[in-house]
Order: sequence, then C-alpha cells, then structure tokens
Amino acid sequence: MATINSVLGPVDTAGLGFTLMHEHLAVSSAGIPQNYVELLGAGFMERLVNGLTRVKQGGIDTIVDATTLDLGRDVTLLAEASRRSGVNIIACTGWWLEMPRFLNGVSADQFARLFIREIQEGIASTDIKAGILKAASDIAGVTPGEEIILRGVARAHRQTNTPIMLHSYSPGQVGRQQLAILREEGVDLRRVKIDHSNDTTDVEYLTWLLEQGCYLGLDRYPGRNVSPLARTRTMKALIDAGYAHRLLPSHDWSSVWVVAETPLISPEEREARNPHGYLYIKKVVFAQLREMGVPEATLNSLCVDNPRNFFEGD
Ligand SMILES: [Zn+2]
Repeated sequence: MATINSVLGPVDTAGLGFTLMHEHLAVSSAGIPQNYVELLGAGFMERLVNGLTRVKQGGIDTIVDATTLDLGRDVTLLAEASRRSGVNIIACTGWWLEMPRFLNGVSADQFARLFIREIQEGIASTDIKAGILKAASDIAGVTPGEEIILRGVARAHRQTNTPIMLHSYSPGQVGRQQLAILREEGVDLRRVKIDHSNDTTDVEYLTWLLEQGCYLGLDRYPGRNVSPLARTRTMKALIDAGYAHRLLPSHDWSSVWVVAETPLISPEEREARNPHGYLYIKKVVFAQLREMGVPEATLNSLCVDNPRNFFEGD
C-alpha cells in the first residue's frame, strides 16, 4: 500500500478518489495569512470551508494545493479547512516565482535540505508534511535563480521520491528547458508533471513533452488568453493521440485571495468568469468532452486513476 502526505497525515493513494491536481485554497504572498489575515477578507475561513464542503458534496475528494511559501502558504489553515470540509488536501514544498534578494547565494543543496525537511519532518514548526515538490519558470524562461530552486527540487525528489510539479510557460515552450535541467539532475521524468500546459494549443509541443515521459497538468480552467473550449479541444486531441493516461485536468483556482479595495478584477467579474469554482471541470469541461464522444470511463480515469498513478510513480 502506497501512502502520500496529506495535511492531516498519510493517506492511502488508493483512497485519493476524484483529485484536482493544481488548485489554491488561499493565495497571497509570503507571510500574509500569518501577519495580515484581515487582507483575506472577513470570515474567510467560513467562506473557505463552506465552499469546500460544497465541493466535497459535488464529488471532489482531494485537492493538491500548489501554494508555496512565496504564494502565502499556511498549512495550519489548510489542515483546518481539510478537517472541517472532509476534502483531502495535499500541501506542496518548493518555490514559485518570488525570490527575495536575501536568498541570493543559497545553494541548490541548501534548498533541497529545506524541502526534504518539509517532506519528512514538517512545515513551519508543525508536523504537517508536504506531499509534492514544486518549481516554477515563466515567460523569461528558467532564470539563474529559478535554476537553483529547480535543481534543489530535483535533489529533494531524488532523496524522497516525492513527485514534482512545474509551473511552466507553455506558449514559450519553457518545459523543454526545465526538463533538460531535471534530466541533468538524474530525475526520472515519469515523476514530473508540467503544469499550465493548456495555456497553449500547440499539440506538437505537448506531444513532445508527453514523449519525454512526463504528465501534463491541463490545469487552467476557465483560464485566460485561450478559450475554455479551445483548451478542451486540445485535451481531446491528446486523448485521441493515446495520451489519456498522462493528462491531469485542474483549474488553478483559488477560493480565497487578497480582498483589495481597488482590485484589478472585481469579485463579480471573477464570479462571472467561473461561477462553478473547483467544480468547473465536472460541470462544464466533462460535458464538453462527452459531447465530443469521450467515454465516461476515460473521464473518470483522468481525475481518479491518473492522480493515483502519478503519486505511485506508475
Ligand atoms: Zn497555481
């Protein structure tokens, strides 16, 4: 029996159920939930728990929370939300894109030791452990600072066997660079997923990634720049090409964020863009795929079998 770390302790991979592989419960910046919790809005925990309870009733069993320290990770918040809603939550270790200047000179091995400690002992003076490693690169490609983190993540993976998720800028094919570095570090690419892969419709690039052995996170729904329907058509093309077993649909949604007085996107606009939150895939994307002729068994395996296999290393 294989187990992975959830925020409430080890869970059997066979019991993960319907799993969303890249979401955020609460997204902000490092230290915000611990220091300026009022920025998350009044009653944010009630909103979070009520939302997750509806999500559980809607058939979602597990959420991988892709919130690193620099995105405002707070594992005690995740644990409370999991306990009260019944949704399994998997926390991550690693880093996103915000690199504080005082970390200049911290080596890949030093980062690896931090990440390993968060997997084996616990995060932020708790015994809550990470179940997945994360590294990130965006439009600029793999920057020198991001390369150090990526190598740290690779080394932590090699010591702990914890799988890796990569925030990646798919329109610029940044996955090619990220995989080359992981390969240099001796990582088995079957333990890696390239996230935000549905920000492009370039099936040739996506097929190349799949041929390297990795999983694809089709985890921006409804997303921006590429329409939801175009995203689903790309997913269908990959299913037809024989890669259904390597695709991991998710939303990259966050139910709690900084409630700004002059927000870039109003809460109403946000709600209008995705009225279903973490249930958008079940309600909209699966309906589109059914219409395109994808069998029910395939739909189920995308979000049940594939996450399990990813964590088990199949
Ligand atoms: Zn994300």
